[in-house]
Amino acid sequence: MNNFTFYNPVKILFGKGQIAALATEVPANARVLMAFGGGSIKKNGVYDQVMDALKNHIVVEFGGIEPNPRYETLMQAVELAKREQVNYILAVGGGSVIDGVKFIAAAIPFEGGDPWKICSEKAPVIKAIPFGAVLTLPATGSEMNSGSVITREETRQKLSFGSPLTFPKFSILDPETTFSLPLRQLSNGVVDAFTHVLEQYLTYPVNAPLQDRLAESILITLKEEGPKALQNPTDYDTAANIMWCATMALNGVIRVGVPTDWATHMIGHELTALHGIDHARTLAIVLPSLLRYKRDTKREKLLQYGERVWGITQGNDEERLEATVQATVDFFESLDIRTKLKDYDVDKSTIQEIVKRFEERGVKNLGERADIQVADVEQILTMSL
Ligand code: NAP
Ligand code: FE
Repeated sequence: MNNFTFYNPVKILFGKGQIAALATEVPANARVLMAFGGGSIKKNGVYDQVMDALKNHIVVEFGGIEPNPRYETLMQAVELAKREQVNYILAVGGGSVIDGVKFIAAAIPFEGGDPWKICSEKAPVIKAIPFGAVLTLPATGSEMNSGSVITREETRQKLSFGSPLTFPKFSILDPETTFSLPLRQLSNGVVDAFTHVLEQYLTYPVNAPLQDRLAESILITLKEEGPKALQNPTDYDTAANIMWCATMALNGVIRVGVPTDWATHMIGHELTALHGIDHARTLAIVLPSLLRYKRDTKREKLLQYGERVWGITQGNDEERLEATVQATVDFFESLDIRTKLKDYDVDKSTIQEIVKRFEERGVKNLGERADIQVADVEQILTMSL
């Protein structure tokens, strides 16, 4: 096992009725910016619960944060927050709203010029406005981590940043808020969380059996609960288990002591930036090809994953490796998530565009061994055509 430091200060309030706790979790004297998305919270009653809990607080609303939150929109929130002298933010929504709020929180006190530099130049976040979250979509883990991914519409870039100052102070996870999710978002959430685990697990062994088994337990739970949720999206226990899986998948616990990959996310972000494909779907396109392409350097963990998660024990190594990747593809497809670029009307020209962008930005050395170069990205995407 590798050396590590583990730090996660996010307080989690989990379960039915927990939104009422906002009344005391948000500091009494705060001037609160309540940020949300395109309006789902007004239809499913979450908005009313939040406003009721905050009835004794000063609240300024900012709605309209879109999926794959845009810098241009978030800067409007920054302006509003400054004008209203906001000193606390509450994110109410999915990963996009929470990621967006992390950027707003860092951008308000940013003194280094255009806050876009936080993403484009990795300008350090020295101050950030404190914020909490009410999660309505289990997927990203953003509710319990400090990372964020922001899209700049003008340049069609999708870039990430993170800072110890952009952990939420608390996150409320009420599984009932997810009952209104469209099936498309439910399956996206399962695939995003599943891929988060695989990016931290399918690397090379470092003799960390507890880390392996933590990862496998999340994968097996998602494999069992995901299809149940699609069958019955309002079953409380299923929703609760999926919500907790998604949080555990990316709150740092399974990452410590082991190598991590993240190449699938890096490549996937380009597909969203260029074609607006849902985040999880870009992962389902890239991951199978990446696993096939890197099957030699990921061999031991892939075989272990196949055996422990999918029960694949028959055949020689090559056959088991292929059966393992195919089981992953079949799982994604069973959740109605297509895994080829052609399913999204994307052709070779996009691969050339991504290669060009990576070269321009100097992106190289991806993956747990830092051995995925731009030419490899081209090969991987070609395998996904
Ligand atoms: P999302 O983009 O936040 O939301 C997708 C859609 O679901 C929106 O249209 C939203 O509608 C709707 N929705 C959310 N909750 C709902 C509910 N309870 N009922 C009905 N509709 C609901 O989806 P996401 O998958 O959570 O977030 C994706 C973003 O997170 C991407 O930008 C991705 O790159 C990023 N990400 C971040 C991390 C991280 O660690 N920070 C990790 C992975 C991915 P409304 O807008 O109307 O609410
Ligand atoms: Fe993700």
